[in-house]
Amino acid sequence: MRGALGGPRVLLRRLREVMAEPVSAQDRLDKIVVLIAANMVAEVCSVYVLRVDGTLELYATEGLNRQAVHETVMRANEGLVGLVAREAKSINLSDAHSHPAFSYRPETGEEIYRSFLGVPILRAGNTLGVLVVQNRAQRTYSEEEEEALQTTAMVVAEMIASGELSALARPGLEPAARQVLHLKGICIADGIGLGHVVLHEPRVVVTNFIADDVPKELRRLEAAVDTLRADLDVMIERGDVADGGEHRDVLEAFRMFAYDRGWMRRLTEAVMTGLTAEAAVERVQSDARARMLRQTDPFMRDRLHDLDDLANRLMRQLIGQDHAPSKESLPDNAIIVARSMGPAALLDYDRSHLRGLVLEEGGPTSHVAIVARALGIAAVAQIENAVGLVDAGDAIIIDGTEGDVHVRPPADIQSAYGEKVRFRARRQAQYQALRHRKTVTRDRESVALMLNAGLLVDLPHIEESGASGIGLFRTELQFMIRTAFPRTSEQLSLYQAVLDAAGDRPVTFRTLDIGGDKVLPYMRAVHEENPALGWRAIRLGLDRPGLLRSQMRALLKAAAGRELRVMFPMIAAIDEFDRARALVERELTHLRRHGHKLPDRVHVGAMVEVPSLLYQLDELFARVDFLSVGSNDLFQFLFAIDRSNSRVADRFDPISVPVLRALKMITDKGRAAGKPVALCGELASSPLGALALVALGYRVLSLTPSAVGPVKAMLLDLDAGKASALLTPLLERTVGSIKVRDRLQDFAAAEGLQL
Ligand code: PEP
Ligand code: MG
Repeated sequence: MRGALGGPRVLLRRLREVMAEPVSAQDRLDKIVVLIAANMVAEVCSVYVLRVDGTLELYATEGLNRQAVHETVMRANEGLVGLVAREAKSINLSDAHSHPAFSYRPETGEEIYRSFLGVPILRAGNTLGVLVVQNRAQRTYSEEEEEALQTTAMVVAEMIASGELSALARPGLEPAARQVLHLKGICIADGIGLGHVVLHEPRVVVTNFIADDVPKELRRLEAAVDTLRADLDVMIERGDVADGGEHRDVLEAFRMFAYDRGWMRRLTEAVMTGLTAEAAVERVQSDARARMLRQTDPFMRDRLHDLDDLANRLMRQLIGQDHAPSKESLPDNAIIVARSMGPAALLDYDRSHLRGLVLEEGGPTSHVAIVARALGIAAVAQIENAVGLVDAGDAIIIDGTEGDVHVRPPADIQSAYGEKVRFRARRQAQYQALRHRKTVTRDRESVALMLNAGLLVDLPHIEESGASGIGLFRTELQFMIRTAFPRTSEQLSLYQAVLDAAGDRPVTFRTLDIGGDKVLPYMRAVHEENPALGWRAIRLGLDRPGLLRSQMRALLKAAAGRELRVMFPMIAAIDEFDRARALVERELTHLRRHGHKLPDRVHVGAMVEVPSLLYQLDELFARVDFLSVGSNDLFQFLFAIDRSNSRVADRFDPISVPVLRALKMITDKGRAAGKPVALCGELASSPLGALALVALGYRVLSLTPSAVGPVKAMLLDLDAGKASALLTPLLERTVGSIKVRDRLQDFAAAEGLQL
């Protein structure tokens, strides 16, 4: 073919001229098909565009009956064109009639053509249509011709994506590239956000597809790949963390691909067809994405993701574009869309512009989810191919309570969500009005509602929610959002900021709770069969006392001249508490000896998270200043269900006889010992859970910030004595089949409590 009419490079050059001509969209498409047909010595060239209803419409043809344009519509499962679209793969046949998928439309007059080459029109891995050439004679299209047609398809893809073709469509049957989408994922941060898409890794917009000078493009490609490789080598040597916050294994995978000869060959070949270096990267990347979307093996999918990421890096290298959108350019209602994201990257965005986050990966326990919740923005995860389905600036709505994402939503959906947002705002205003009221039940029982926090961004919540203090400060979050261990001085300044923000209100710091699902990306991962039962929390702290000691020193210094409350996670044996407490004493002695100002008082407590403590409560109470029940872990270990495994996490009910009996035992013994007992797990953050806890005798609850309003509103209307009178006998009965949750719900309904 090369000799025929100048080969692919000439075709591309001519295409560029056509793209620049000030003609209508239809004229441009018509010229494109004529050009391709002539260049490839084909009798037919046709463009089929995928429509929002999933069918493929003939948009232009050279060689087939012109009357069929915009009339011929194929179902997605029809014929060879449908097959190309479905599989996002080229089909190259010298005798199309003998292919089982062959079918023809008489109105097009195509039955006389025997050879067929169809390529998908791909953009970011999504099929936007199909480009076909056909010949009467049985001929074999060369690999080079297939390449050239694929390259041409890229140009057509940009035309479709730009919206230029929408003017040619019948209403409701527009090209699928701009279609309304309703996607379903999983909720990772509550809330509703309306706004516009901001791609976390902006798709580099390739404006120049066609090379003027192929050898020069090859040199640009090689130089960029060399720099990319060198950068990766340095990053791995330095022990950096990948952009998504993942472990260094990801960087290793990048490096492996960066040196892969097959990848380099595909890029080079794409440039040889006449593309610029960046257009070549886009082509190879789009193919990888298309394969990824059809890949079910999770291992292969991950590898294709890595390849996609690598291509992104290379693209940025070529275009010299910065990786994150500049803060100034963030629109007012930004909804960030990313494949995956590290927590620090989310914190880099200006909170005042953020309305939501959509991720292809991630789950409720991911670090970025923790940050999203702390920032109070809605977030939905596990939206497949989210990045490929949206364009920067698209209107988007996310519902973090249901896991819904609406892309380019129609007016009715927009107004329905607008109403939801206003309703939530009204409810928030009602809770705000309660902010300064003390939490006292109808029968005059005072309950202290504290906050669960862990980041600087959490601190404004103390004032906003009117909480009585911080009942659980998860110190590991500072470690988790970083790319390296925070120095003692950095820890110190965070703890000081927390104590300053809390003022007179108490703050309970929990020492590092890492390990299990809380991994630090910069710490070498230790492979464990059962990480939740493994080397984590206080176990790690006692075995590596340097870390715990430096944290303790930072805490003691931060609280100089004030009260310090500190507790240890995952205590399972009395001896562990004794050793941890001894470490506190040693640090106090050290600071005293060096003339540091000390806290006025240090309260040392333990978390009750491991069931073994239930049978050592007397000994424990004799030693601690206070206890705080971590009901998330206690529940996990009581029922032997992995809290991060969605298959089992919801299998049992925490508002059930065994859990409530255990919780009652702890608070009863605390009262007898004269030691305060709080509860800081998620159970306290739902009004029904809080009702149960107050009925059991708990008077200090620590909640997620957004739960303070609803829980306080419920408690103000509650008669705690009446609730205890209902609950206590239920727990004393020996029958295990009582549905405590139902009984409490009935009680709440009868009492007019808002749950
Ligand atoms: C708990 O286990 O209940 C708890 C509060 O700790 P975390 O959720 O941080 O494990
Ligand atoms: Mg815990």
